[in-house]
Amino acid sequence: MLMNDIPQGLVTRRAFAGRAIAGGCIVALVPAAALAAAPRVEESDETAVSLGYKHDTKAVDGKKYPKHTASQRCVNCAMWQGTASDPWAGCAMFGRKQIAAEGWCMAWVAKPGAS
Ligand code: SF4
Repeated sequence: MLMNDIPQGLVTRRAFAGRAIAGGCIVALVPAAALAAAPRVEESDETAVSLGYKHDTKAVDGKKYPKHTASQRCVNCAMWQGTASDPWAGCAMFGRKQIAAEGWCMAWVAKPGAS
């Protein structure tokens, strides 16, 4: 079979293998941290606004959220998906976006075992 006999849109085994190797090389050149880094949430994002999220718990409007205290931070919330030393990490409320360790939103709930 000649290459000209192959209908357009079909990929030969050789072409597929070449593309797979090239793709693997590109992935290998990208640092793992860059692949894992999720975008950070903006305070203006729809979900952030609806939850009253702030990057800094000290910036939360106490009149609007009277149950908020300055000791409530994302890092000590049960939804925090990072470690105690991570400055940014995931949260179940924000999907793939990262939130700040010093942040807060109205869904805050104490991490079990945290004092
Ligand atoms: S649910 Fe908890 S960890 Fe997530 S943004 Fe709100 S306070 Fe932060």
